[in-house]
Formats: sequence, structure tokens, C-alpha cells
Amino acid sequence: MLRLDIVHPIISGNKWYKLKHNLLHASQTGYESIITFGGAYSNHLIAAAAAAKAYNIRSEGIVRGTYAEAELTPTLQACKEYGMQLFFVSRGEYAQKNENGWLDELRMNYPGAYIIPEGGANEYGRIGAGEIANYIPRNFTHVCVSVGTGTTFVGLRNALPANQFLYGYAPMKGGKYLADEVKPHLTKDTNWELFDDWHFGGFGKQNQTLIDSMNEFYDINHIPLDIVYTGKMMYGILKQLKAGVFPHDANLLCIHTGGLQGNSSVTRLLRY
Ligand SMILES: *Cc1c(COP(=O)(O)O)cnc(C)c1O
Repeated sequence: MLRLDIVHPIISGNKWYKLKHNLLHASQTGYESIITFGGAYSNHLIAAAAAAKAYNIRSEGIVRGTYAEAELTPTLQACKEYGMQLFFVSRGEYAQKNENGWLDELRMNYPGAYIIPEGGANEYGRIGAGEIANYIPRNFTHVCVSVGTGTTFVGLRNALPANQFLYGYAPMKGGKYLADEVKPHLTKDTNWELFDDWHFGGFGKQNQTLIDSMNEFYDINHIPLDIVYTGKMMYGILKQLKAGVFPHDANLLCIHTGGLQGNSSVTRLLRY
């Protein structure tokens, strides 16, 4: 397992790689701040807040859903502590986050701000994610990674040698739709596959089976998994291993993409 969860306590996992070139661009171009988007437990939002602070650039976060000060999640509280100014919008308005008209309005209201899409899903994000491939030796036959926007997946597929298989695990219902988002950005359309069988009811949903498997994984391997992405991915991979999906001489590398701060929603259920 490639432990990207331990690269930084807050800017953890793949998020740092996706943000890196975005922040460099913003600071080198003279932007005053970054604006980005996320939900109340978003790994991206908290990483963006912490990374912006490290780069000495202001940050604004547009949050899906309205929360009173007293109901802020630990994630949102931490974002504020890193100096991110939070704006709460309804789910309906949030859904427009990639629409040009809405983005133009945002740019007009915040002329000095560089807008980073949700999940760091842009070309800078894909290029940064590709740098994760530098840590992956060639003797691995299969590389496994969880998929949210597909940004990390694309970066990896484009950067890894073509003969290494890249398997993506989507934690949401019908997640194979992501293939359509991934394809246009691939420079090598070869040896990749997405799986969406282990969503446990949908994005952010969970049940006792998932919790048990994460606790068991921790007992055996002493590696904490996150409830949204890597817990579901490892559950799926263990099922695939039992089902003989991988050839006998396969050499698997599973990427731990971090996200452990999101476990604040289930701390009392986990043994770690
Ligand atoms: C954000 C995130 C992902 C998904 O990354 P994408 O580049 O959006 O596909 C996977 N795992 C964890 C832990 C994450 O926080």
C-alpha cells in the first residue's frame, strides 16, 4: 500500500498533489486568493484551506448546504481555523458550481480570486496527481486507487507505464459513469477499468459490514482506512482477490489516498 495518507497530517493523500500546481499558478500569477468548493466533510476543502495558508494566499470556500455556526463539522471548523472564509449555499445553487454563468458571476464578485474546481478537478490537478506515479515501481502489475472526480485516476493513467493496469474504485452508486469524465483526458486509453460495486448505498453512505471490515483491516495491517473512499476500495479488492479477479502472479499496489479526517463522522464506531 502506498501510504499517501501520511504525507501531511491535514493536506493528506492525493489532495496535496492535485492542489500543488493550482496554488503555484495562483501565487505566481498574482491572484489574491483561491476559491474552491466542497461538502461539510470535504477532504479537498480542508486540504485547500491548509495549503493556501502554507502558500500565504487567502482562501474562500463555498460549502454545500447551510450550517449554523454551532453546527459546523470538525472539517469546516478546521477550514475556518486555517483562515478560509466560508460561504454556505443551498444544494440547488451548489449544483451550478461548474456552470459558466455561475462561475462568471463568481469571478465578477471576486476579481482577485483563482477558482479551483471541486476536488481540484482541472489540468493542474491531473498533472499534479500524475506525480504520484513517481512513487510506483514498475514491478507492480496492478495499481488500485479510489475514484471521486477521476482527476487522480487520469493523472495516474497518463503517467504510469502503459503495461501497468490501473483499477479505479468508485464509492458512489452507478460510479461507472465516471468513465465518460475520464476518457476525454486520457493520453493512453489502455489497461484501465472502473468498478462501482462496493458503494454501500451511495456516496458517503455506510453500514456495519463496512465498519467491521475497516476495523478488521486495521487489526491485521495496522493501517487506518477512511470511511468514504479507501475503506470501500479495500473491501472491494478483498472481494476481488477471493473471486480470483487478479491473476496468480499479480503484484498489487493499493494507493491510500488519505481522507482520514473525514472519519470524524464515525469515530465512535472505529477502533482507531
Ligand atoms: C478526494 C479523494 C479521492 C478521489 O480523488 P479524485 O481525484 O477526485 O478521483 C479518493 N480518495 C480519497 C481519500 C479522497 O479524499
